[in-house]
Amino acid sequence: MDIQQSLQQLKKDLADKEVVLVAVTKTKPPRLIMQAYEEGCRDLGENRVQELIEKHEKLPKDIRWHMIGHLQRNKVKYIAPFIYLIHSVDSLSLLKTINKEGAKNRRPLPCLLQVRIAQEKTKFGLSEKELFEVLNADELRTMKYVKIRGLMGIAPNTNDKAQVKEAFVKLKILFEQIKQHYQLPHVVMEELSMGMSSDYKIAVEVGSTMIRLGSTIFGSRT
Ligand SMILES: *Cc1c(COP(=O)(O)O)cnc(C)c1O
Repeated sequence: MDIQQSLQQLKKDLADKEVVLVAVTKTKPPRLIMQAYEEGCRDLGENRVQELIEKHEKLPKDIRWHMIGHLQRNKVKYIAPFIYLIHSVDSLSLLKTINKEGAKNRRPLPCLLQVRIAQEKTKFGLSEKELFEVLNADELRTMKYVKIRGLMGIAPNTNDKAQVKEAFVKLKILFEQIKQHYQLPHVVMEELSMGMSSDYKIAVEVGSTMIRLGSTIFGSRT
């Protein structure tokens, strides 16, 4: 299937679902990304800052750029002027930097807190305990240029669907719990970013509001 066909199929499959499709364009050249753009994709995700800023410069300005990969503090300044949503916030110190750069640009920066829902050591993200430490931190209350809009998670890399579902359910429960109990002006739980090419159907079933798809749209990365 080509990009156009994959997107048309996806749109059909997702027509009755309230879920935002983030097309993950990492490693893909602008020529292919424009095919997705022509099909209506405006939410694009990248996992490396350098690639993200280069593509932001080259591609149409109505694209909403999502940072989905691990973000180093010293790189926040490069994306702060334009980033639409940072999915991968995994520490209070990163939030501090985001707040500082948001202030410089006079725009609150929308973020998701990334939660580690797979047990693999290689995955970034906050443990459940760390997540609540961040949410309860006094410092967070003073960060006027941070807007926490939800949570993000990456399921374990396994073919075991039950295990994947269990991880997504865990994240959904945390999301609902925070939504009910944390009423801070700059913590508003509205987005739950979960689901990639191999598991997005399960994620949507469990209540994802944002899926991040690369290979389903563009074919596998070689
Ligand atoms: C690469 C990537 C995706 C997309 O992966 P596919 O399996 O190609 O859909 C989603 N989320 C993150 C964080 C990624 O790095």
